[in-house]
Amino acid sequence: MLTLTPDAVLLRQSAGDWREALDRAGGALVEAGLGEPAYAQALFDREAQSSTWLGNGIAIPHGTPESRDSVRATGIRVLQFPEGVEWHDGNRVTLLIAIAAQSDEHLDILRALTHVLDRPGVAEQLASAESAEAVIELLSRPPITGRFDDSTIAAGVPVQSRQGLIAMAAGRLLDAGCVGPAFMVDIMAAQPVALGQKLWLVQGQQDVHQPALGVATPAHALDDTAAVFCLACPVDDDTEITRAWQALLERLFQLLESGQGEQLATLDSARLLSCLSGEKSSAETVRVRVRNAHGLHARPAKQLVQVARSQSVPIRVRLENGPGEAVSAASLTRVLSLGARRGQMLVFSAEGQGAREALETMAAEVRDGLGEAVTPLNDTSEARPSRNRTTPVAPEPPPEADTPLMAVPASPGMSIAPVFVMRLPTFEYAEHSDNAAWEQARLDQAINEAHDQLAALIRTAGEEVAEILSMHEEMLEDPELREAAREAINEHMSAEAGWWRAIDTSARAQETLADRVLAERAADLRDVGRRVLGVLCGVTMPDPPDHPYILVAEDLGPSDVARLDTRRVKGMLTARGGATSHSAILARALGIPAVVGAGLGVMSLNNDVELILDGVRGRIVASPGSDRRARTELSIREHDQRVREAFEARFEPAVTRDGHRVEVGANLGNTAHAEDAVSRGAEGVGLLRTEFIFMAHPQAPDQETQVAEYRRAFEALGTERPLVARTLDVGGDKPLDYWPVPQEDNPFLGLRGIRLALTRPDVLETQLRALMIASEGRPLRIMFPMVKDVEEFLAARAIFERVVAELYPDTRRAPNVQLGVMIEVPSCALLAPSLAEHVDFFSIGTNDLTQYTLAIDRGHSQLSAQADGLHPAVLQLIRMTVEAAHAHDCWVGVCGELASDAQAVPVLVGLGVDELSVSARQVPMVKAWVRQLNLDDARRQAELALKQATSAAVRDALEAF
Ligand code: PEP
Ligand code: MG
Repeated sequence: MLTLTPDAVLLRQSAGDWREALDRAGGALVEAGLGEPAYAQALFDREAQSSTWLGNGIAIPHGTPESRDSVRATGIRVLQFPEGVEWHDGNRVTLLIAIAAQSDEHLDILRALTHVLDRPGVAEQLASAESAEAVIELLSRPPITGRFDDSTIAAGVPVQSRQGLIAMAAGRLLDAGCVGPAFMVDIMAAQPVALGQKLWLVQGQQDVHQPALGVATPAHALDDTAAVFCLACPVDDDTEITRAWQALLERLFQLLESGQGEQLATLDSARLLSCLSGEKSSAETVRVRVRNAHGLHARPAKQLVQVARSQSVPIRVRLENGPGEAVSAASLTRVLSLGARRGQMLVFSAEGQGAREALETMAAEVRDGLGEAVTPLNDTSEARPSRNRTTPVAPEPPPEADTPLMAVPASPGMSIAPVFVMRLPTFEYAEHSDNAAWEQARLDQAINEAHDQLAALIRTAGEEVAEILSMHEEMLEDPELREAAREAINEHMSAEAGWWRAIDTSARAQETLADRVLAERAADLRDVGRRVLGVLCGVTMPDPPDHPYILVAEDLGPSDVARLDTRRVKGMLTARGGATSHSAILARALGIPAVVGAGLGVMSLNNDVELILDGVRGRIVASPGSDRRARTELSIREHDQRVREAFEARFEPAVTRDGHRVEVGANLGNTAHAEDAVSRGAEGVGLLRTEFIFMAHPQAPDQETQVAEYRRAFEALGTERPLVARTLDVGGDKPLDYWPVPQEDNPFLGLRGIRLALTRPDVLETQLRALMIASEGRPLRIMFPMVKDVEEFLAARAIFERVVAELYPDTRRAPNVQLGVMIEVPSCALLAPSLAEHVDFFSIGTNDLTQYTLAIDRGHSQLSAQADGLHPAVLQLIRMTVEAAHAHDCWVGVCGELASDAQAVPVLVGLGVDELSVSARQVPMVKAWVRQLNLDDARRQAELALKQATSAAVRDALEAF
């Protein structure tokens, strides 16, 4: 390959005519030692055969094939003629690129120049460039192309509306880095234009980094929409940019002309790409990878063109993952302009009689190297270990001995035991293989074996773990995952590499949704992926010890947990993950104390080092001293005793020693668990997170489905215990598949909770109606999430009143229903008096209230340990809320995690909170804590806490109390 250096550029040349100019060019080559004097003459011989003028003021003089002997070294000289020279073919030349080439290197220069030739204005710029560097820069500047490839396509999206597809198509452009957030806002407000054939186009100009075309198609047919295109077309005077997006638009018009628009909804992304790159759906295609060391450079390209020209049908070719449309394989400049590199996949297409044979010939030629010796793509030099996410990048020092380390509390309880550090192996495998059938068979067999493993684990696992492992089984069955792996194998990847690419692509897609629940699915996917990889690579997991231990891992997948004998696992500690990670959820379900997000240093602990793990405070201590160890053992014994006693007294009310009653309810996400909550002593459901019911359905559950769900909870609760239902709290960090929200930089500060619900009053109405129908007069409390001020509450209440008027036309009153708001946004606590006038109750969501007050993302793996609800700033807001509520005879509950914090319970009771709602498992203990209290003492503790400056000071002061 030829590269340009400044000494090869000769500026400000002048010549009376083209001969003189060519003479200078030849002289420059000779002077540079690149050719014999005879070569200078050969330039004239070549011009006599045909002009080397290319276009845009550029000619590339070079010698004839016979003159190659007089080339001393391959090289070029660039001569600038600012005044211009009239070439012998009548064109004007301002730049001569003289080439001394021993073979066909001039074709590579031609390839490098194809974009310059197309670029308007570049001839003038080259002619007037003041420095050699400026000329080089102009010649080598990458072309501006419109982006349209598989990363800008979202095929088969499970959404129900055109607006949802717009969000997906635009989201793809955002993910691909073609546009910024302002584009998203712009596009969601833009009016889509009907193109015909059920195609829609929406265009945006704001915040565009690169012209691009996104497309989204629905998974299930929509009446009037087969696909939505989203065009990012910046307003720019640069004609090159304009041409780039016009070329994208042109493809759309060609598609419309071909009449294939309606078919798009049925195509996967590869076929969609093919359809939009100008290949007819009736065309046959063949894919083949480039094996030449330097890609499709001049000689192989020339050979490819010759083979294409000798076929009986026209052949088109494109890069599978390139931006461009399919080009004629018979055009050398077009083929060169693909710039195909080794390893890239070419897609040839042709139609008509003989097409298949022609394509096979093309593929065979490419496979054979197009006249060059090529090395196969599966040579061992290309084998490399997979980039396994579970492999730590670099070891970090372990925690210091006998020194507490704070992390994220994930499951309550305390334990002391030696550690077992689960270090996952890396998988070593070859990346490529040429035997697709063999690789496919290996993968099928490994998947079957993984299935058998899962089935065996499910038979012995507990309910929660089994549920997640069944989901893993389903993931193994996922036809899209298998198809993606199959495609990768057909692209000459090995079974391992193909499978992992399919897993990783899918996991990344989940992660980009910025949704924590879906991000956990990504962890599950990788877990499933590793299981199959383990079978393929013959790698087995390390065996845990047969004595009790604390399990330490970088992160834990459900199948890791299922493999363990949980009776021996006394605690779980992970380097990564937040309190909502699956490992944390599983630990809670299994009742194992857990701390997560402790940092990679814990992976450097030696096996058998003793560890204290405090799942309540999120604290660990490695190699504790004997005093600390003795204190911990005593408190574990006392704690176990208290848990037993609390459980026995679970049906007793929570009344302080001086007779003050506090209600204790349960937080639920699934109405099927209401019965269990009652059996643990819950006096009601203090928070039903109804979004989990919505998330469990592939589409918004209709009224009937919702009534059935809510009725299950009411029936378990009976006629006395209240159900506090929070209306749908989605958006932001937990979007619903069927209610897409454009990706946001700060989803917690974005379109979520009531803000989102108010954009779809019909959904809110259905939910309110379903709740009231299901309640049948039993105590129903409805609250709205993420309210920021009274205006939002009144807007939501207006919807509620509409439903009440419709359900109870005579009385216009709903029996036994109260309406409240969650206090989660600081503004709401500060303005509580203005809200208290209108509501029946408040329920303080301390999880969100803390994150918004302290400006700490509640799921942040490093910071969330600092997001302590016992911070005095949060407590001040709780105080203001309670005072305002009681002044208006409203009751106040706390339903965030703070309600089950042993140190916080006295403070909350002292602040006057009337109800605490906690996870069902914690109900007996929270009731027991209240019973130990004296209201006056609790008030004093609250006063003390409010006087402190930090949460640490609050905790210290309370401990000393
Ligand atoms: C809260 O924010 O405290 C709360 C209870 O709601 P969620 O945790 O569901 O956001
Ligand atoms: Mg909340």
